[in-house]
Amino acid sequence: MRNSLRSPERLYEFIRVESSQALADDFAASLASNPMQVRLTPYVLALINWHDPVADPLRRQFIPLASEYVPDHPALGLDSLSEHQASPVQGVVHRYPSKALLLATRSCPVYCRFCTRSYLVGGDTVAVTKAHEAATPNRWQQALDYIRDTPAIEDVVVSGGDAYSLPARHLWPLLQTLLEIEHVRSVRVASKVLAVLPCALLDEDGWSSVLVAAQRLARERRKQFALHTHFNHAREITWVTRLAADALFDRGIKVRNQAVLLRGVNDTPQSLGTLLDALVALNVEPYYVYLHDLVPGSEALRTPLSTAIELEEALRGHTSGFDFPRFVVDLPGGGGKRHVCSFRHYDQGLGVSLFRAPAIDPGRRYYHFDPLPPQAQRPIGIEGLIEAFDNAHSEALAP
Ligand code: SF4
Repeated sequence: MRNSLRSPERLYEFIRVESSQALADDFAASLASNPMQVRLTPYVLALINWHDPVADPLRRQFIPLASEYVPDHPALGLDSLSEHQASPVQGVVHRYPSKALLLATRSCPVYCRFCTRSYLVGGDTVAVTKAHEAATPNRWQQALDYIRDTPAIEDVVVSGGDAYSLPARHLWPLLQTLLEIEHVRSVRVASKVLAVLPCALLDEDGWSSVLVAAQRLARERRKQFALHTHFNHAREITWVTRLAADALFDRGIKVRNQAVLLRGVNDTPQSLGTLLDALVALNVEPYYVYLHDLVPGSEALRTPLSTAIELEEALRGHTSGFDFPRFVVDLPGGGGKRHVCSFRHYDQGLGVSLFRAPAIDPGRRYYHFDPLPPQAQRPIGIEGLIEAFDNAHSEALAP
């Protein structure tokens, strides 16, 4: 962590030395549209193939290039999943009655350029001034009171940000308090540390000892506890990852993966299938594959809904059903996660699909938008897209 690159200037210099002046300049020119701060561990930097960085799947996830820039979709909003609207108190997102998201920190050991929560996570950038409402340790009380006072909440995700950013002395009392709330049946900790700093999990007395203690407490209370992590490509898995995953497995920690579908990273049956196999071999459950959300500056990484549908079709049967991920789309506007095939109608020509989310708002239409084709007229306007879809598919709009 101490040796992480934490500034555009240091990353620029690193790219210039490892690769070329031209690539460093390409990176520097991307900063005007990059919503995420620079922070990369030496471990991640060492995994990038610096002989061919442009095509490298890790470089694509963490280091933007101006030459790859695609203008943002007109439907883009900074908080595209409308988490603000679903936040009853600072640091809590409560969308589904039984589930709450506790935004316990705003920082991460690395910053992914496509972060869904780019409105909140990390420091300000040239492109984005962040919201500042994550629950910090001295503000957790309000969030915990809300969860304690809301008996419908059974499942709590401790996220942010990345829970690894919380020191053990802060994380443990938080998990202990949550697990001692009677109606909370399940606690999940979200951290990318297994993917980006696995050596940190090899110290039995370190951060992972909190997971072990929480796991023990959950078991005593007959509750569920799990670590949710985030691998997107098999190249992120090394011999160190195997040691760390084995250490978690030996100590009884359930680990699930939430991958994001990224163009040029894992959007082929071969690349995604290899990742799923590698996760299963690590005893990590491939829980979700998310369609990439609308995030500023990362339109080049988005895929259409059809890509997820085709990948699911190609890969189903590849592994046992219990090791096969759910392919989901998190609906813009706060409709929550829906299976990619559960649309009411999908117009691939317009790149618009219509979903319903009765558990959240039975009367509302939720639209999802594919990336615009390169030949699309810009600015096309979001109202125009929806109007064209509604006019062409009135039968699909029946409640
Ligand atoms: S680790 Fe997660 S929360 Fe942090 S920047 Fe990456 S996607 Fe966002």
